[in-house]
Amino acid sequence: KSELIKDNMEKLVKENGLENDVQIVRTGCFGFCEQGPIVKFLPDNTFYVRVKPEDAEELVNEHIIKGRKVQRLLYVEPTEKEKIDESKKMPFYKKQIRVALRNAGLINPDDIDEYIANDGYQALAKALSMTPEEVVEEIRESGLRGRGGGGFPTGLKWGFAQKAKGEIKYVVCNADEGDPGAFMDRSVLEGDPHSVIEGMAIAAYAIGANQGYVYIRAEYPLAVKRLKNAIKQAKEYGLLGENIFGTNFSFDLEIRLGAGAFVCGEETALLASIEGYRGEPRTKPPFPANKGLWGKPTIINNVETFANIAPIMLKGAKWFRSLGTEKSPGTKVFALAGKVNNVGLVEVPMGTTLREVIFDIGGGIRDNKKFKAVQTGGPSGGCIPAEYLDTPIDFDTLTALGSMMGSGGMIVMDENTCMPDVAKFYLEFSVEESCGKCTPCRIGNVRLLEILDKITSGRATMEDLERMEILGKTIKDSALCGLGQTSPNPILSTMHYFKDEYKAHVLDKT
Ligand code: SF4
Repeated sequence: KSELIKDNMEKLVKENGLENDVQIVRTGCFGFCEQGPIVKFLPDNTFYVRVKPEDAEELVNEHIIKGRKVQRLLYVEPTEKEKIDESKKMPFYKKQIRVALRNAGLINPDDIDEYIANDGYQALAKALSMTPEEVVEEIRESGLRGRGGGGFPTGLKWGFAQKAKGEIKYVVCNADEGDPGAFMDRSVLEGDPHSVIEGMAIAAYAIGANQGYVYIRAEYPLAVKRLKNAIKQAKEYGLLGENIFGTNFSFDLEIRLGAGAFVCGEETALLASIEGYRGEPRTKPPFPANKGLWGKPTIINNVETFANIAPIMLKGAKWFRSLGTEKSPGTKVFALAGKVNNVGLVEVPMGTTLREVIFDIGGGIRDNKKFKAVQTGGPSGGCIPAEYLDTPIDFDTLTALGSMMGSGGMIVMDENTCMPDVAKFYLEFSVEESCGKCTPCRIGNVRLLEILDKITSGRATMEDLERMEILGKTIKDSALCGLGQTSPNPILSTMHYFKDEYKAHVLDKT
């Protein structure tokens, strides 16, 4: 639809002889998926929603030619009719601060000039004027933590790789986003691929690497296409390759396609897959920063982490720390989905509460139903009930609630949601995606699912509930990698907060 809208508007602009005055630009995602397709007019920031291809004529005739707003396509908030014409004032955007998504919905991702015009590659130039140690220190000072799920301090990771001995080192971007309902990384790559390339180049300089790989799932064809084009343009502009900015720093970047195995998001499995082996995790240590790709020191960060690097280098660690919380500085992108009114992609400072995200930005629960729980962290996370809606979101608070940040999936559930069913959905996913290398995950999760199946079909006893809890905790403690270690989380968290629902399913309720 968006392509058709663009084609129709271009045609009409041309027919009216306006092609020298009006530019129609294809951008990445605006984030407000619920109201798409979106057409934004600049410089006046008029934000038209739910636009159809046949609306192009009215937009060109009314807005462009006659200078009159097309009222029926404006985003109307019933209580704020006078503020409807600027996206900044829209409740969906009001509490958002866009760092990783700074250019998504603003620039043409296929045009490097637009990225450069918005401070693009200035951070790389600045980094190259510093020593690698200073770059690592800046990132360490910023307090940036890996946005892929683990929340490991990025500067610390870079410091390990910088100090690791070896002539050859690698930088790898994990773009193997696989959580059900999550599309943060895809949107960054589709909307602003150069932000990731620039972040990777800065990382490479900092640790002494000359080669990088982006491991991206083949199911993201548009992201792959845009990234390929961005790499090609960066090479043409001398921003990748030999002697970047006239220095002796060289960096090349290649894409590796993943075949859609969830476990390949685990860093050691991802590295094995790049090397051409079956994507199976291995024990750590050694950690990739010391022994990674082909046994060489390697840093692996995810898309959103790299997208944060250039702003930190340009604006400084202190600026970054002014956003978010003390232990989790900066912002986080969430894919807001489920029974919420405004499904979409949101970026908020860490420390924003779940209530603000779900009600102020998300517009509350669909059909005026009651909020029941929110699942954060996808199949590795847990369900958080209504009593914790005012919890400020950061890595540590979510873990303390039995869930986790994960890469940023946030699925909202209403009063009609059956929590054992939710747990079953996620566990089925983990069983399906287990690589089978270790017994607790390969067999334990299957047994766990059998018990859960008994519960949801009304054949279980209280003893089954106890067995399920013990088995879940055992898998957590003994599985080899993060997938297995976190796979019981949806069961354990729903059992913790919604035990009565499980009891309601069993035969003997004592
Ligand atoms: Fe494979 Fe699961 Fe073991 Fe991870 S925990 S290594 S996914 S079997």
